Amino acid sequence: MNFADSLKENKIFKVIAEAAKESSVDAYVIGGFARDLILKRESKDIDIVCIGSGIDLANAVAAKLGGDIEVAVFKNFGTAMVKHDDWEIEFVGARKESYNRDSRKPIVEEGTLEDDQNRRDFTINALAISLNAKDFGNLLDPFGGVEDIRKKIIKTPLQPEITFSDDPLRMMRALRFASQLNFDIAPETFEAIKKNKDRLSIVSMERIADELNKIILSSKPSYGFKLLFHSGILDKIFPELTELQGVETIDNKSHKDNFYHTLQVLDNVSKESDDLWLRWAAILHDIAKPATKRFDEKIGWTFHGHEDRGAKMVPSIFRRLKLPLNEKMKMVANLVRLHLRPIALVKENITDSAIRRLVFEAGEDINSLMILCRGDITSKNDLKVKKYLENFRKVELKIKEVEERDNLRNFQPVVTGEDIMKTFGLKPSRIVGDLKTDLREAILEGHVKNEYKEAFEYLLEIAEKKYNLKTPSVKISTKKSDQ
Ligand code: ATP
Ligand code: MG
Repeated sequence: MNFADSLKENKIFKVIAEAAKESSVDAYVIGGFARDLILKRESKDIDIVCIGSGIDLANAVAAKLGGDIEVAVFKNFGTAMVKHDDWEIEFVGARKESYNRDSRKPIVEEGTLEDDQNRRDFTINALAISLNAKDFGNLLDPFGGVEDIRKKIIKTPLQPEITFSDDPLRMMRALRFASQLNFDIAPETFEAIKKNKDRLSIVSMERIADELNKIILSSKPSYGFKLLFHSGILDKIFPELTELQGVETIDNKSHKDNFYHTLQVLDNVSKESDDLWLRWAAILHDIAKPATKRFDEKIGWTFHGHEDRGAKMVPSIFRRLKLPLNEKMKMVANLVRLHLRPIALVKENITDSAIRRLVFEAGEDINSLMILCRGDITSKNDLKVKKYLENFRKVELKIKEVEERDNLRNFQPVVTGEDIMKTFGLKPSRIVGDLKTDLREAILEGHVKNEYKEAFEYLLEIAEKKYNLKTPSVKISTKKSDQ
């Protein structure tokens, strides 16, 4: 196979080829870029391997590109990176690697192109394309990577046991590529993953989480999770999730398998949204079901309070998985906590105040919450799902209507704490907070409109009634106009 024409489309390859020629080193495009070229997949980074110094070649390329191109040199790794247009081009000298048992950091020595291809993780990632004058564009595929792309197979180039034991992160990468590309994993490769799963303990959680997030962001993440589950890795890194698996039966009554249900919800949500954190909320929405599971002779299986308990589990799970402990985590916890609320509204007579409360509590996350809830409607009975979704649609319309009318998504009471303090000459104190809460409750219940005049009059009323605060002489301030 020859890729000269494809490479000529991007002028950077010409520049690299010239720089390599002038420096008298052979250079090759290697790994992901070559793979994605064959898969017709867009790729954003380019890896170049040369038989010599990667850092020197990077400098030569930068000089040729001219101007203010910067070369980021990673001396310890013997690599260098050049950014040009939207491309990140990484240069490395061909190398041979050998590993210690207790570290995934290899001992590195200079090597040939073959040595370098041998150290690659999968046959599909070991492809090299020549940038040299004598065979520009030629594909060098020592392990049948092109055939494996055609067969959609992830396979290690050398003995899988050794490949995975050397660098256990490769096991996560195998599952990640399978999930991203919708490839199978070769049987002996998968067996080796099962055998070596404990070796993941030498990999940092950050790296594991990176790969996990890539699985979650693939178009059908349930596939990656099933591979994680069947390889035994999921139980190592995320036991709360494997706990969900299984069905218990008492008195002929069974509950659903919450693991497979969760994966279905994750896929459903993934069809609607690329948001990693909404996808995380799908993964975690029923996470407290094992902890709250009870059998009641009359009603059967219950999971009372699993939404609150689940929301409380989110921070510790995020901390352990080294996920960010920021507002994204808060959003996930919020979605887990609220995930039953919209569904509950389907069954009840929907009151405006129930809707107002939900919109107020969900705030900015209301759209995500609705996607999660819609995804949570799963059943083997398609008719049931259809009927449920139709009812749910009514709730959605109602939410939209109330939200537009009452402007509650970013609820800010029109009368602020500041106003309350000024009106009654109060210092910041508990009573100010209590008055604010009373006012908010009255607005959410629909007793008072979310507009200044009505809210202020109500404030004066409860202040006098409940707290015996005297009504000030000026009843209605003129500084604010009604909305
Ligand atoms: P993507 O960029 O889409 O994640 P990629 O295959 O380019 O996929 P990178 O992490 O960018 O993945 O790595 C570039 C190349 O380096 C890979 O194609 C592979 O040849 C090699 N590689 C990366 N990580 C490893 C590893 N842990 N073990 C062996 N080879 C690796
Ligand atoms: Mg890459």
